[in-house]
Formats: sequence, structure tokens, C-alpha cells
Amino acid sequence: MTELLIRGGTVYTPDGPRQADVHVTDGVITRVEPRLAANGKAVDATGMYVLPGAVDVHVHSRDPGFTEKEDFGTLTAAAAAGGVTTVVDMPNTVPAVDSAGVLESKAAMAHSKARVDFGLWGLLRSGTTPEQLEDMAAAGAVGFKAYLAYSFSLSRKQVLYSPGVEDPDLEAPADYGTLARLAPVVAQLGLPLAIHAEDPTVLAAFRRPLLTYDDLLESRPPDAEAVAVSAAAAVARESGVHLHIAHLSSALGLQAAEDAMQVGTSMSLETCPQFLLLTSQDFDRVGTAMKMLPPIRTAADRDALVDGLRRGVISIVSTDHAPHTDEEKSQDFERAPAGSPGVQTLYLSCLQLAKDLGDVWRAPRWASQAPAELVGLGEHKGAIAPGFDADIVIVDPRGKTSVQAEHMRSRQRHAALAGKEFDFEVKEVFLRGEPVTRGSRTRGRMVRPAMVAG
Ligand SMILES: [Zn+2]
Repeated sequence: MTELLIRGGTVYTPDGPRQADVHVTDGVITRVEPRLAANGKAVDATGMYVLPGAVDVHVHSRDPGFTEKEDFGTLTAAAAAGGVTTVVDMPNTVPAVDSAGVLESKAAMAHSKARVDFGLWGLLRSGTTPEQLEDMAAAGAVGFKAYLAYSFSLSRKQVLYSPGVEDPDLEAPADYGTLARLAPVVAQLGLPLAIHAEDPTVLAAFRRPLLTYDDLLESRPPDAEAVAVSAAAAVARESGVHLHIAHLSSALGLQAAEDAMQVGTSMSLETCPQFLLLTSQDFDRVGTAMKMLPPIRTAADRDALVDGLRRGVISIVSTDHAPHTDEEKSQDFERAPAGSPGVQTLYLSCLQLAKDLGDVWRAPRWASQAPAELVGLGEHKGAIAPGFDADIVIVDPRGKTSVQAEHMRSRQRHAALAGKEFDFEVKEVFLRGEPVTRGSRTRGRMVRPAMVAG
């Protein structure tokens, strides 16, 4: 029996923050009470915050398929360094995770490298059958992701953005008919349906060469997000499926989502630190590290998203951690691919935003509790309470962290948030009661949703 006591900190419990010690036995939290006695290892957390490990439900490991960009080892090392103790990987790796067999082999590979726990999304695309979804659910998929604006090249084994491109080798992206056809199946399985919400016909109408940041903004109007959110909500609503909007980026998209929620659509909204902390005005300073899709937009969009978070309409902050190589990102604007690493700064970003909104204890709700619930892990992760996994992050509220690309543990050394200063410092991170530090041999496990029907 391995015991651990974390003593003297301010602990985030389901009832809010309080002064308590946290007792852990064999990786599970057993007691959260003042002045507990230590039988084994004790850690002094006096003056510190004791938080549940973050659950980042939107990362791209790039593994398998693009391991020159990232792999499960480097992804989860970066996650661990920032207090993210569970990552949920998107299915657009190669081969795409569209069957139970692919999901199982990806899980085995990830298990051999992961430093923190991980879950896997399955892919829902135009040719997907109900049986494929059922088999992936049985194999442990946390839910399914549909890319409304991306295509898949089977022969070139690539995942591409390509609305408006005529190419017989590209399989069409998921469409609203596909969502209407498969939403009842996903609902029956009790899993969430996540979408990349950009409408491909709107994007096709605004397609142009991307020579400058303004071109990028004009090519991805917020209308594309709003149309996709509204249409997906319209076709999903009747089925009762839970629709999850990934990386919400615009005021217009937020309004469309709120309209859909008001008429009873079961829906959760996720946004990302880069949309909450940056605007298009930062491009001159940051450069291609902030080229991503959907794009980082105007100050008005940022303000609307921050307000959505403040009002609780947006409940989840995840990162869309999407590395490309430093070499690829240092090309000119047109050639630099879209996406950047971000998992390592999730918790610090949330703490800073929550502090700036006047209640620092919102951060563990956005980064840990709400995302854990989305992917069916809410009974074991997302809170510090008896029976929960001892995924624990100790944060110093008097520390300072300056985000610097060279401190990133991702395989890549660039970051959209480089230069940001946070009034917090991650001091220690535990995965199921074991410290996750550089050099430790802690191993992540695959997590599965608890609430799968049947
Ligand atoms: Zn993504």
C-alpha cells in the first residue's frame, strides 16, 4: 500500500475551495479533511493551491503518422509539465481512427509512451457506418469527432483542409446529412458528438491565397462557424445527442450556439486559451506561431468569448494543441501550416483568466471538472474528493511564469502564447498519486467513459 499526504494547501473540492489535507492510498484520494496524520510520504503545500489535474479534451498527438511533429511521449511530457494529467487525442492521425481496430492499435502504441492518462476520440465521416461507431465505443472511444471542413485522402494517407478543391482522391468531409444519419446512433451509445464547426460552402465562397493575416481572417469568416453550429444543432437536436462544439472562436459562433441551447439542444461549448488571450493585433509580435484554424480573431470576438466563459455558457477550455515542426512554422505565412503546441500552458492560462474575472476557482471547472464530465470521466477525474484518482496539481499563487518557447516540452519550440506572463507557477504534479516529473517513470493509462449505454 502506497500512501501520500498533501498537507496544508487550499484544496479545490466539489463544494468549493477549502483548507484541508489530502490523503491518497494506492493512487486514489481517500480523505480530504483538516489535520490528517501522515503514514507515508508527506508533501507540504502550505500557501499553495491543490487542484485536480487538467483534462485537455482537444489535443493532436500527431502519432501515428506525423511523429516528426509530435508523439505521445513528447505530447504527454508537455502536458505533465503544465498540470494536464489527462489528454484526449483527436482522431485525425494516420491511419485515421475510424474503426475499432485502428483505435485499439493506437491505444496500445500510446500506452507504451504516455506519461499521463489519455483517451481517444473516434472519427465520424461521410462513409462511417453505425457498426463502426458501436465497435469504436466498445473499444473505449470517449466520443466521436466530425470535421465539417476537412477531407481525408485515403491513398495519400493524409488529412487535409480542402473545401472547394476538386480532387478525386479526397473523400468529402462529414456533412449535415451524415450528422443527421448518425446522431441517433451516437445518442444511443451515450457519447458526445464533437464537431469542427466551419461550414465548407461558406469557406469555399471566401477562398483566397493566404499571403497575410488579413487574408486568413477573410478566408475563415465567423459566418462559417455560425452556420455550422446552427445547422449541426438543427440536425442533432431531435436525436438528443450531446453536441460538443470544439474550439469556438467567434462572437457570431457563440451567438448561434446560445440560440441553439435556448431551444433545448444538448450542447457544450469549448474555447481555447489562444482565443481568450490573443487577438489578430498580436500577429505582428507573435508571427506564424499564431496561425491556426479557426483563426484568432478580433478583440470583439475575444471579449465575447471571455464573457461567454464568465457567464458559464462556455464551460470548457481546452487547447487544440496541434504542433507542426519549427521548420514548417518558420516558412513564410502562406506556406506555414496552421496549428501550434499549447497543452503545457492550459492550466496557467485558465488560472490567469479566472483571476482576472475575479474568481480563480473557476479555472479547475473549465480545465478539469467540465471536460472530465464531457468525456464520461466525471466520477474519477475533475475533482479532489474521496474516490477520485489522485491526479493533483500543486500551484503557487505567488509564483510567476513567463511563457518561453525554449521551456516547452513539446517536440517543437514555438508557442502562440510566448511572452505571456502568468501570476502562478505549477510546482508539483501527481498522476494517480505518483509524481510526474522529468525522469520519473510514471505511465499513463487509457481512460474510458463510464456511461456507455448497453
Ligand atoms: Zn483540433
